[in-house]
Amino acid sequence: MKINPQTSLIHAPRKAPQYISTVQPPLYRASTIIFNNTDALFNRHWTDAYDYSYGTHGTPTTFTLGDNIAQLEGGTHHLLCPSGLSAINLVNSCFLSHGDEVWVADNIYGPNMEHLRNLETRYGIHVKVYNPIDVNTFTPSDKAKLLWLEAAGSVTLEFPDLTGLVKKAQAHNILTALDNTWGAGLAFNAFDFGDEHLSVDITVHALTKYPSGGGDILMGSVVTRDQKLHHKLFRMHAIQGISVSGDDTAQIQRSLASMRVRYEAQAQSALILKDWLKQQTEFVQVLHPADENSAGHDYWKEICKDQQSAGLVSVVFDAKYDLQDIRNFCDALALFKLGFSWGGPVSLVMLYNLKEMRSLAHKHLQQGLLVRFCIGLEHPQDLIQDIEHALKQMNQQKIE
Ligand SMILES: *Cc1c(COP(=O)(O)O)cnc(C)c1O
Repeated sequence: MKINPQTSLIHAPRKAPQYISTVQPPLYRASTIIFNNTDALFNRHWTDAYDYSYGTHGTPTTFTLGDNIAQLEGGTHHLLCPSGLSAINLVNSCFLSHGDEVWVADNIYGPNMEHLRNLETRYGIHVKVYNPIDVNTFTPSDKAKLLWLEAAGSVTLEFPDLTGLVKKAQAHNILTALDNTWGAGLAFNAFDFGDEHLSVDITVHALTKYPSGGGDILMGSVVTRDQKLHHKLFRMHAIQGISVSGDDTAQIQRSLASMRVRYEAQAQSALILKDWLKQQTEFVQVLHPADENSAGHDYWKEICKDQQSAGLVSVVFDAKYDLQDIRNFCDALALFKLGFSWGGPVSLVMLYNLKEMRSLAHKHLQQGLLVRFCIGLEHPQDLIQDIEHALKQMNQQKIE
């Protein structure tokens, strides 16, 4: 059939030959996936991860990244979501119904808590808060369905009693979901940890952080080792129309190759900064799981066998410094940029008021305002200089 140039623009005749091989896999962008014939259409298995029927159910590009993330974390089944928070929400909406009880650590990622509080108000789900370093504060009733874990916890970085908490949850038949963003599949294996080879049921990972590594792309994943759990999640993912862009997926796939190196470099810099921060008189506490004075340090040692830790370190300022002082400090930083998130090349700083964030009283946290540093890929000595200069500036402004 002879066709017009206008049509041949749309039905391009050239196809990539089978033998061509590139470092990065080809990128598939798809809403429509074309069936070869009506047989293929009628025999499609859209719930099978390796069948292709429509963009929302996945392409070779999304399955490749998902396979890699699942393997990295020690799981087998995976789903990708447009952000880390949407991956968290997928788990919540899949496993929580009216009257159910969900348990979250006091230091859980803030927006997860907000989402759960919203479900509590609208759907009668009961949100219970536990102290991650005290398993005795986790007292599930027979309505308890889901336990959220995070290691280390957001902002204050306590490493939880994973062994104690998971064992107790399993004894009560409660699903365990771990926000694995900090460990990223590198610091420990959430599906096989500790001397007793315990496993959580589900991991959620904000791929926005280390896997992306660029500070420019949002994505999240949900990984399990359990086919039944995966099918429930898969259906919820499908009926909610959750999907990710092929371009974003390929970008993260490209960054994965350097993830371990970046993670270790940022962790190393964070350790150098931690040791330096501890010597500064402006801070009453330096929070980092690898520091023996940090809450949960022994649990960290037990779980992170290779002494791995991410590139995050928080400090509590002496109570003589008020909010204006902390704002002056943050504004005086030059290399550390003021912004949310972490895992990218640029170091970030964020200030928090613990009093507004924690509902349980914690003896292990001192009074004062808190700043979290997310270490990027700059030279650690330059970062130290930057903080040193900003502290000087803050102190000077206080005297004036
Ligand atoms: C950033 C983050 C998330 C959410 O990821 P987004 O992609 O920003 O939605 C979830 N959990 C933790 C621990 C995070 O740091």
